[in-house]
Amino acid sequence: MTEARRTAKALEQSEGTLRAVFNNVHSAVFLHGPDGTILDVNDRMLELFGVTRAEARRMSIASDFSGPEADVGHLPEIWRKVMSGKALTFDWKSRRPGDDKLFDVEVHLRRVDLPAGPRILATVMDITDRKQALAALTESEARYRSLFEKGNDCIALIRGGRIVECNQRAEEVLGVPRERILGTPAGGFTPEYQPCGRRSSEMAAEQQTRAAAGENLFFEWRQLRADGSEFDAEVSLSLVDPGPPALLQAIMRDISERKQALAAITESEARYRTLARNFPNGTVLLFDTEMRFLLAGGLGLEALGLKPEDIVGRTPGEFFPPDMAPRVEEVFRQALAGQTSLSELAFADRFYEVRTVPVTGAGGRITGGMAVSQDISARKRLEEQLRHQALHDPLTGLANRTLCLDRIRQAVERSRRRPGYNFAVIFVDLDRFKLVNDSMGHKFGDTLLVETGSRLLECVRDLDTVARLGGDEFVLVLEELEAPRRAIQVVRRVREVLGREFQLGQRVVQLTASIGVVVDTRHYRAPEDVLQNANLAMHRAKEMGRDRFKVFTNRMLDAAVHRLNLESGLQRALAESQLFLVFQPIVRLGRDYGLYGFEALVRWRHPDRGVVGPSEFIPIAEESGLIVELGLWVLRAACRTFAQWLGSVREASELTLSVNLSGRQFAQADLVNSIRRVLQETGMPANQLKLEITETALMENASRAAERLQALRDLGIRLSVDDFGTGYSNMIYLQQLPLDLLKIDLSFIQKMDVNRENVEIVKAIISLAHTLGLEVVAEGVERSRHHEILGLLDCEFGQGYLYSPPLAEPDARTFIREFRDRPLPA
Ligand code: C2E
Ligand code: CA
Ligand code: CA
Repeated sequence: MTEARRTAKALEQSEGTLRAVFNNVHSAVFLHGPDGTILDVNDRMLELFGVTRAEARRMSIASDFSGPEADVGHLPEIWRKVMSGKALTFDWKSRRPGDDKLFDVEVHLRRVDLPAGPRILATVMDITDRKQALAALTESEARYRSLFEKGNDCIALIRGGRIVECNQRAEEVLGVPRERILGTPAGGFTPEYQPCGRRSSEMAAEQQTRAAAGENLFFEWRQLRADGSEFDAEVSLSLVDPGPPALLQAIMRDISERKQALAAITESEARYRTLARNFPNGTVLLFDTEMRFLLAGGLGLEALGLKPEDIVGRTPGEFFPPDMAPRVEEVFRQALAGQTSLSELAFADRFYEVRTVPVTGAGGRITGGMAVSQDISARKRLEEQLRHQALHDPLTGLANRTLCLDRIRQAVERSRRRPGYNFAVIFVDLDRFKLVNDSMGHKFGDTLLVETGSRLLECVRDLDTVARLGGDEFVLVLEELEAPRRAIQVVRRVREVLGREFQLGQRVVQLTASIGVVVDTRHYRAPEDVLQNANLAMHRAKEMGRDRFKVFTNRMLDAAVHRLNLESGLQRALAESQLFLVFQPIVRLGRDYGLYGFEALVRWRHPDRGVVGPSEFIPIAEESGLIVELGLWVLRAACRTFAQWLGSVREASELTLSVNLSGRQFAQADLVNSIRRVLQETGMPANQLKLEITETALMENASRAAERLQALRDLGIRLSVDDFGTGYSNMIYLQQLPLDLLKIDLSFIQKMDVNRENVEIVKAIISLAHTLGLEVVAEGVERSRHHEILGLLDCEFGQGYLYSPPLAEPDARTFIREFRDRPLPA
């Protein structure tokens, strides 16, 4: 490539560069005629003055864009000066058409010679927010542009080493009249030495000899003007007539301005680079039609530890990693095809949003493209975070239900595709967690859950999933199991890690869990079914007394269906009064043996199955919430019956009535009010009513228990702890509650047969109850030996088959009447 073509190309690229930058330049630019007629404006002008391009062309600089304070009368004179070649810079009061508010601008006027004739280029800068670097850039563009459109050549004819003819342009350029040029040795009007260090006359002689031999020469030459100043020229020397003597033609072009312009370009590029380098949070890249990078800059580049030199001169294929280059090339190709595009690229662990625009040179030809990238890693991180939040449990950081189901779905699909593939789902539910949470505080509970989560993670491999579904429910999805047996090993491990003491600060807690497992996962389609069956197995484990695990079987599903049937049946039972009560006598033990009262127990006369006991349907009613309605029905029916006894059976007047209250009922906010209403409706004397509540139910409502019990007591009702010994047996806790009676669970009474130790336990419970001011009822008294021992242990009351099974209402009535005539159990 010749020097001239290189220069031309550089100019064109540089123009493109500048134009790309100028699209976003902060100065408004007007191109107008010598009389001020507006010919064109740039985008920024439209923005600054709030007009459309068409409007701007119809408007006048003096009346539409200048303020009243501006000296508009002087404008024609100013334009004349500019047209004569003088560049002017001055401050001006400007305004927007139709707006009286003035703002300060700096105006820069300069004559530009366009093919269509001389024009004035007016650069208007809003100096309320001045940008020096860009102003300089504007200036440099104007300068090089005027040059670019200029340029005619000096021509001289040389014979025998002397100039024999020259054109007028040569006179102008050298500043020497024609008469003095002619006859001068060619290679005259030069300094003695050329920049290369050789003597000018020698070089000139050599060039002429070569040209005379027919060679076309093209070289740069340092010239001297008449005033002694030097300038650079580009000379082409060729043979016109071989002679002899040979006639040579020298065409000389003053390239000093071009040289200056090149220097200016370098300068303006340096400024542009400064801008580019400081491009906030991003990178600017310019590339040519071969996608070779011409320029790179921006703080984003610095952030990556890159320098422009690392990029400039390379293509995407040479710079980016192989997996990324094609993507970049595709985006660049769009720019080269004239399209603006916006895309996202990942590079060096960061994410970028890349806007690519075509860069056009003279005549609108695309000379390359500009890519402006912005680091959007922070936004990506946020998105990532949001996605994480949507799929994870905030407390433990484990997968949530959605992600858990998704992992199971993937496993289901995999096992359908790959025959030997096994996976398993383990459902873990902590036992009595609610109790710990209520009694130790939620913060403590939270820490416990977090610790549980991390212990569960210890039990699995990386490819497995540990999820928290909410509350104290955790799920493990085990993938790629070589055999279903492996799942059971994991279950053992889970029990082991959860069995370790949890030490949190000063407090130490021991937890157990009920676990359900689905190992035979081959026939599933819906992930929800796998989870549901694991849950079912977990519930079975819980029902069987907690702290154990159950593998799901289809029989459980049958049982679940059975439960479901029971539940809907129970609903009907309530509506169609299939429920009825039986009454079991409670006797006073010791010397004043006698009938003390009755416990009301519910039964269900099932249309198909006959009488169903409460152990089968009370838990279902608890779970479904039906217990609230059912419990109230029991209370009302029991009170009504008892009130009738009071009115009709003389011996009943001193008796008591015990009614069971479930945990769910006890948790009801309007419990006290609804009980008060039942008492009023039925005429039941409150002081003869006792309510039995299990210790677990009390502790599950720990925060409200004391207050609620007191409210019941204020009504005159007496309160009893039921099934004592099967729950936490936390005497210290019970001591703080307003209670009257304690019922020892029948399992303790029945175990008294086995050995002496069990008798000791019952003895201890009774004496402890007494120190707390509670009277004791022993349940499940079946043998006279139980009766005797309990008497010796000062137990106040007894209940059990030894005295009577639960009785239907008429039998209970007879029992009351005839009690005195009954012999003491022996
Ligand atoms: P519970 O409150 O502990 O009631 C005593 C249970 O022990 C009764 O079983 C009773 O029939 C049984 N039982 C009585 N004496 C003996 C004995 O000597 N030996 C043996 N092995 N068992 C004896 P039932 O009626 O089947 O009630 C079972 C449980 O159902 C009750 O246990 C109670 O927790 C619950 N329940 C019964 N009725 C109601 C009710 O109306 N509401 C609520 N919430 N729960 C009820
Ligand atoms: Ca009871
Ligand atoms: Ca009981």
